[in-house]
Order: sequence, then structure tokens, then C-alpha cells
Amino acid sequence: MNIQGDMMPSTVLLVGTSALHRDRRWHHLADRGISFVPVPRAGFRLDHSIRAGVHAILYQVGPDTDATLAFLDEAAAGPSDLCIILLGRSSKADSVALYLRRGAYDYISWPCSIGRLADSITSGLAKRRMSIEVRNLSGTLASANSTLAHDRDMLKQYNQRLAGLNQLTQALAGSLKSEDVVQALFAGLPALIGADLIGVARNTRAQIWTWSREADPVREEAARAHLLRSVEHAPSRITSGATTLRLIHSRPLPIVSSATDPAGKCRFPHGVAYDIPLVFGPHNNGVLHVARSGSIPFSEQEHQLLATVGTSLSLSLRNADTYQDIQELASRDPLTGVLNRRSLDGPLTREFKAGLRYGASACLMLLDLDYFKTVNDRLGHTAGDRVLKDLAKLMTDTVRDVDIVGRYGGEEFAVILPHTSLEQAKSLAERLRSLIERQAFSLDDGMVRTTVSIGIADAPHPTIASIADWVNAADTALYAAKAQGRNCVVVYSPLHLAPVQAAALCAAA
Ligand code: GH3
Ligand code: MG
Ligand code: MG
Repeated sequence: MNIQGDMMPSTVLLVGTSALHRDRRWHHLADRGISFVPVPRAGFRLDHSIRAGVHAILYQVGPDTDATLAFLDEAAAGPSDLCIILLGRSSKADSVALYLRRGAYDYISWPCSIGRLADSITSGLAKRRMSIEVRNLSGTLASANSTLAHDRDMLKQYNQRLAGLNQLTQALAGSLKSEDVVQALFAGLPALIGADLIGVARNTRAQIWTWSREADPVREEAARAHLLRSVEHAPSRITSGATTLRLIHSRPLPIVSSATDPAGKCRFPHGVAYDIPLVFGPHNNGVLHVARSGSIPFSEQEHQLLATVGTSLSLSLRNADTYQDIQELASRDPLTGVLNRRSLDGPLTREFKAGLRYGASACLMLLDLDYFKTVNDRLGHTAGDRVLKDLAKLMTDTVRDVDIVGRYGGEEFAVILPHTSLEQAKSLAERLRSLIERQAFSLDDGMVRTTVSIGIADAPHPTIASIADWVNAADTALYAAKAQGRNCVVVYSPLHLAPVQAAALCAAA
């Protein structure tokens, strides 16, 4: 073991002190791993090779204080690993203090005991060794600190992402319409993943939505074309073990091939993009397309995040579909497929209010099958059902898309005609009445014919103050049509009260 506590040998340069080298009394230090190299002071320079190979310098101070100070400054200018011990004959206390301030480890007045010299050298080397260790340790500490700071930043980022993801999945799950689900996605995902373009396509519902950061129609159009191809060729089943993320571009590639601005430059020259299949159970229901400009690929963390978003989106869309289906189911009459009575309330209220606010005329038509009981009695209830079903279809096919057909009761139907004058409603009603009259409804074992009576009321109307009034008015007109012999159309008019409350267009008349 050497004096520094390890097996590393130390070299001490004796500058201008070569006489000391010959002193055999301290050669015992060689046994402790310290070797001495004598050099003359004249022309001595602390060059790089000396710094590299020497650990301490025993320097003979000359009469010129400035020369010693210059030597000390030179030593201090490099890495401060050299242990400098000065040996002088009669330096003044001021100079000694100056030497020590300028970096000398020790000043020893000569002559002195060899033991004093040996002590100074060994303790100087030990101090040198310690300061190197402290420096190394601070370096390690600094790098550990910067690693910690980096990890803390990453953790912060990760936490922010997690919070964002949580918020996004909640927004997705909280939306009950597929449009709202996709809107929530477009509102939340860009900030989370740095996306510049997002697209969603659903092969099950034939829907495609796109969003781009700069609302760029060209880029969105290209994305829609890509999505369309994706869902057209998407397998309806995902094979087990298939990866949930499909890499479209493993390296930066143009994602808009021909999008050029007037200057002829590609506006979105490069980007990276991913398609995430929207999987539900074994089925692939569509695709989520995420792209961003530039060449920074999606990181592993972003892959995982996108996979989670894909799953959440898939589930939320599925939930929205189910909710929509249930709503649709609950609003429809199961036999005929037209709206049920409860679901007519919404459009009735809407049209009635629009009439009050904007003076827009709307008409309500109530239609009742004539002597339908006899159809049931003669041909059976199932045949009657078939007639009701076919009649509902005939009505739906005959009216405009904006008109709303519903089953008001047993064999009574309602048609709401928005933005329709009384004259237009009368002509539609007459056309319907006549169509039904001429229609032979086919049954399993033959045909049956039937007729309908129709009552019409328009709103706004001076004598109609509420939705209930409006329905009652149409019902009054229907009642009048029945009273006038059936198979006819009657328009509500407060001038013609009982027994015949309306002007009739009876076929029999
Ligand atoms: P009117 O010309 O006065 O309207 O005579 P109607 O026989 O049509 O009138 P009524 O109210 O006496 O009879 C209505 C019939 O409609 C009675 C009922 O059996 C039939 N009906 C109601 N709902 C259904 C249904 O869902 N299916 C079938 N098959 N028949 C129904
Ligand atoms: Mg009837
Ligand atoms: Mg009836």
C-alpha cells in the first residue's frame, strides 16, 4: 500500500532540489510507492507531459519571488491536481503567505529534518487524492442529479399525459351520440399526442369524420380517401394475435401526395401516421387515423396511448350506437316501424312553436282506417296487422322526407307536415286517400281493399292555442270525415261546427 491508501504509485518531481535526491535518509518512501525524479530549475516548464505523469512537485524557491509566483500561477492554470511543496532558505513571512494563497500546499524552510519533508509530501499526496475523489464524486452527483431531473420531467410529462388521457376517455365515454364522441376525440387528442390530423372511419355505420389542425380541406380530403380505402379493405374479423397498431409509414413519407399550394410547393411535405383499428370483440368496426407533420416518429409511450384511445373510442362509439339503437327502438312502433305516439310529441311541439314564432304554417293530418274492425273480423288479426304495416309503408313512401309519419293509436295514423299550407296538405291528403282506396293489400291467401278518413288542421290558427288544441282540431275534422260517410278528407274549420264541422272532400260526395 502506498501512502494514498491504495496501490497507485506516486511520482514526486524534485525541481532544483536534486541534492535532496541523493540523500539516502528518505529513500524509505520508495517502499511506500513514492518515486522521486530530479530536474534542474533552470528552464523548467510545467508542460502537459509533466502534468500527466507527476503527482507532487518539491520546488526549490530561488531569490526571485516573482519567478516562484509565476510558477505557482502556471501550476494553478491547469487541472489543480498537482501538490506543490516549496522549499526555501530564508523567505519572508509575507512571501510565504503569498505562496500559500497562490496555491502552494506547503512551504518548508531549509534546512529541515527529512522527516518534516516526508510528512509534508505524504500528507500533500493524501490531500491531492482526496480532492480528486471529491471532484469525481461531485461529477457523479451532478450527473445523478441531472438524471433525476430528467426522470422527474418525464414523470411529470407522463402524469400530465395520463391526466389528459383520463379526461379524454371520460369525455368519450360521456357522449351518447357518435358525433359527440368524435367531437370529444377531436377536442382532446391533438394536445395529447401532438396530432395535426385525425380521422375516424366506421365500416359498420358508413361514417367518416376528419379533423385537421389548420382545417385544411385538401389534407382532410386525402385522409378521407385513405380512410375509405382502409375500411373498404378492412377484414371484418381481426385474427387472434394481430397487432392493434398498424404502422403505415415506418419512416417519414408524404402523407398528402398531391397537395400543393399555388406556389407549387407541397404544403404538408412529410409526416408520420398510424392507423388504429377500432376493435370490438372479434370485430374490426373501423379505423382511427392519426397523423402529424414532421419526421418525429410516434414514441413507444405514444403507441400505448393511441392503443388505449382506440379501445376507448371503440367502446364509446359502440355505447353511443347501442344508446341510439335503444332510443330508436323506443321511439318506433314495433308493428309498422313508424314513430310511436309518444315520439310525435317532439316534432309536434317543434312545429307548433315554429308556427308561433315565425308564422310558418304546418299541418297535422290524422288518418283512420274505415270499418277496420270488419277486416279483423273477416280475415283475422294477423291479416289486419299486415294491412296496417303495408299502409304505414305506403304512407311513408308517399309523403316527403321532411314529413313525419307516426302511429297515433290502433288503426289511426298521424302525419306532421312542416312548412306546409292548408292547400298543399289537402292535396297530399287527397292523393293519399285515393292511393289507399286503389291499393289492393296482399295477404297470404288473397287481397283486401280498405279506405281511410282524414282530418287536417293547420297551425298557427286563430282558434288553436296549444298542441292539445291542434290535435283536437285534426281529430274533430277526422270525426267529421267519418260522419260525412268516410273515405274522405276534411279540413278543420271553426266556422263549421257540429254536426259537420269542416269543409269535406268526401269521395262519396
Ligand atoms: P271506423 O270507420 O268508425 O273507424 O270503424 P272501425 O271499425 O275502424 O273503428 P273501431 O274503432 O270500431 O275499430 C278499430 C279497430 O281497429 C278495432 C281493432 O280491432 C282494430 N285494431 C286496432 N289496433 C290494431 C292492431 O294493432 N292490429 C289489428 N289487426 N287491428 C287493430
Ligand atoms: Mg277505424
Ligand atoms: Mg279508430
